[in-house]
Amino acid sequence: MPDKPSTAHRVSRLRALLRRSGAEAFLILDLKNIRYLTGFSGSDGALLVGAGKPVLLVDGRYTTQAAKEAPGARVVLYGDKATGIADALSAGGYGKAGFEPSVMTVDFLGALKRKAKKVRWMPLPAESGSIRAVKDSSEIAHIRKAIRIATGALQSTLAAIRPGVCELDVAVELEYAMRKKGAEGPSFDTIIASGPNSALPHARPGRRKIRAGDFLVVDYGAVSGGYHSDETCTFVIGRAGKRHEKLYALVKEAHDRALAAVRPGVLCRDVDAAARTVIDQAGYGPLFSHGTGHGLGLDVHEAPRLSALSEAVLEEGMVITIEPGIYLPGFGGIRVEDAILVTRAGAHVLTEFSKKLQVIG
Ligand code: ZN
Ligand code: ZN
Repeated sequence: MPDKPSTAHRVSRLRALLRRSGAEAFLILDLKNIRYLTGFSGSDGALLVGAGKPVLLVDGRYTTQAAKEAPGARVVLYGDKATGIADALSAGGYGKAGFEPSVMTVDFLGALKRKAKKVRWMPLPAESGSIRAVKDSSEIAHIRKAIRIATGALQSTLAAIRPGVCELDVAVELEYAMRKKGAEGPSFDTIIASGPNSALPHARPGRRKIRAGDFLVVDYGAVSGGYHSDETCTFVIGRAGKRHEKLYALVKEAHDRALAAVRPGVLCRDVDAAARTVIDQAGYGPLFSHGTGHGLGLDVHEAPRLSALSEAVLEEGMVITIEPGIYLPGFGGIRVEDAILVTRAGAHVLTEFSKKLQVIG
């Protein structure tokens, strides 16, 4: 069972960030950050973290839920959100407040400035987005559960994948199976991409019927306790030819090299380079058109990013994906994606599906 999320510990880490920034209070508007810091899972609200007990501002729909989910916060009801925030700032005596620049809109900042005339506002970039990057044991338990649900769903859907069945039907079956097994929803719109469609990294499943000789890319995930799983399996339908085997082996090798490069203290761009070098050297570099992975948690894509330019450093307890791929227009694509936990000993693979080339249908 997941232990109780330690929201007090998370808030104290945010306060340390606040002290370094010179701001007196931090206005959090990102709902995932609010959930992370308080436990509140509603669809609107604001959180003000300063010196005293964090103030969770909600509208009338959420007072009961907020009091229940966020015992560590003082719940305050607002009629107008900007007015409620301005009142809370004035009650706390705060003159300098930080905000998340990637979430705050120009409109809302304008409203806040009009309502709280004495407050100076400052963006607290980057770091505020990565407060969630290192996961605690309760978060890892939620991610593992999401993975277990997703894996079970794919296993029960595999029998339905055969020539003549269209992509959309497989996607619907898989999402239904995830919901039946307890998922709060899919992590994102499930990708079922067959044959030439699999050469589009973000293909939408359509009416194309799966055929023998296709690569079939299945990129899917489930949400449990607010946490996301994310995995890509690439199958071959019917019979694998030499070309399938060679391309798959190349991507799998890139995936394995990236996994081997994972350990605390390593730059994310170096993990990306480990995968990219393999694909570059085989002459397919331009066909690997995305980053090697991303953090996974309350958002399906979160810090850190594993791209060629990422200066982020891996830390013990981060949950990230490793997902190199190559995409050959007109023929097909291969992506191999696992979710892993960064441990002192290196990458610990959390996803459960075998990444050996599997022929199905
Ligand atoms: Zn994915
Ligand atoms: Zn992913």
